[in-house]
Amino acid sequence: MKLLCAIVVFGMVFSSHAEDLVPGNSVFGQRNFIEYVPGELPLVIAAPHGGRLTPAEIPNRTSGVTDIDANTQELARTIAAVIHAETGRHIHLVVCRLHRSKLDANRDLAEAAQGNALAEQAWQEHHAFIETACEAAVRQFSVAFLIDLHGHGHADPRVELGYLHNALDLADCDEALNESTYVNASSLRWIVERSDLSHVDLLRGPLSLGALLEARGFPATPSPRMRVPTEPFFRGGYTIARHCKADKNITGLQIEANRPRLRDTAENRLRFAKALVSTLREYFPKHLGISLSGEPKSKECQRVQASLTPAQ
Ligand SMILES: [Zn+2]
Repeated sequence: MKLLCAIVVFGMVFSSHAEDLVPGNSVFGQRNFIEYVPGELPLVIAAPHGGRLTPAEIPNRTSGVTDIDANTQELARTIAAVIHAETGRHIHLVVCRLHRSKLDANRDLAEAAQGNALAEQAWQEHHAFIETACEAAVRQFSVAFLIDLHGHGHADPRVELGYLHNALDLADCDEALNESTYVNASSLRWIVERSDLSHVDLLRGPLSLGALLEARGFPATPSPRMRVPTEPFFRGGYTIARHCKADKNITGLQIEANRPRLRDTAENRLRFAKALVSTLREYFPKHLGISLSGEPKSKECQRVQASLTPAQ
């Protein structure tokens, strides 16, 4: 009952002030465990496994993975900073500041919080903030693009792109992958339903996110080079499955960054952040019909064309 009240109180307090959120000004859940930086762009990034807080009131989780995805909180903040520097606008950012030994926000509630009331409330807040962020983006731009940002320790140093298909799914033939069974299960379903490209093209064609990242020097899978990921491979977890719903106009993916050259040093995080932002600048107009800054494609094209017209 105590927990229920806390959640209700949180919901009331939060919803009554939702319209007062200021882009770039962080708001926090209980005890600052979860941070939400409201934005004004169609991009929402969540970082569930980069937290470092280890409050004694929450016992350590006793099952499941408890290791931090090192420096992913910092990587998420760097990506947000690069976009702000380039556009003058803020993305929506949701950061779990609790260490994964206390809460795994990318699991269902039972595995995530393992019965602890404080951890359960933080989990509720994490997902409520993601919902608030996505709803705001949809209100403003008709679509939200959600990236759940992680770091993997697999031997192959590539970025793993999780669209909710595992390696075995991706080994299926193109014809099968383009059928509704796979499309309906895909985090890209919203895009597929509006695109001239096929599901397979969006997963690993020349205009896929993997292709665009590889063109900027960061190996990725699935992509034209590695159409089927070698195992182990992360397919995308609870957060993407819960929030990326075509009928809610939310699409996106889980991005798993390898450590060397991407998130090991501040310099490398900045380099990867710039490459990812450049990738998204190309990806958004092609597949979402808006620029990363939220402008309709036609305007963007007009401005590019205008800038190419010689002065009279
Ligand atoms: Zn993770």
